[in-house]
Amino acid sequence: MERSERERQMTPAERRRRMEARKRRQKERARKRRIRMMILLGGGILVLAVIGLIIFGIVRLVSGGSSKGIAANGDTYVIALDAGHGGEDIGRSSGETVEKNVTWEICSKLKTMLEGQGYQVILIREDDTRISKEERLAKALDSKADLLVSIHGGYSDDSGVSGAVSYYNKDNQQSQYLAEKIQEALLKESGAADGGTKEGSFSIISDTEMPSVLIEAGYISNEEEAASLADDTYQNNVAKGIAKGIIMSLEKTE
Ligand SMILES: [Zn+2]
Repeated sequence: MERSERERQMTPAERRRRMEARKRRQKERARKRRIRMMILLGGGILVLAVIGLIIFGIVRLVSGGSSKGIAANGDTYVIALDAGHGGEDIGRSSGETVEKNVTWEICSKLKTMLEGQGYQVILIREDDTRISKEERLAKALDSKADLLVSIHGGYSDDSGVSGAVSYYNKDNQQSQYLAEKIQEALLKESGAADGGTKEGSFSIISDTEMPSVLIEAGYISNEEEAASLADDTYQNNVAKGIAKGIIMSLEKTE
């Protein structure tokens, strides 16, 4: 009341100045409110981003370091299979067991299994012919496959040595990861002795950046293991293990 009394006594110019001062104060208060809001909002976004990063990190840790998982270049995974030896190059042999036939059988079974799971498969050796190392590598690179698995049999002068071995190129982390997954599943499915995962310098796995492993499914120099390798059921179990290992090594898409 008192204030309006005073206002009434003011000159129009005074009243205008007073109004303007009041407007300025209101504007200033609004500006400060906006700044406070911005700071709050910015802080909120920052906090959310930090929480997001922490959750992302935990999820990656829990999923077992999925960063190692092999990613597909295209819409579906393309898997190159290399059946060792071929044609006049029969590889190692022991009795009825011939390496080039064992590698062919395992690759054929593996192809059927992987295609059944929706993966695209490329056979580096398509029939019983001899192919050079260079041709094999060129074909693997041309195929633009996401990964490569080469199958062989092992050989030792000591006929007592047995077991499956997965070789990888030491400079390729994803190859090592692939080798570990395949070795784990292969032993589980086939019951083969564990020859371990090892660094290897075979051309097919060393001269490419593609995740690749060379598997010696068993020793042809070991009579018992050679007999197993020629057995259809055993070959099936080996193929099943390799297929599972390959699939385990792929990047999770969910
Ligand atoms: Zn071989």
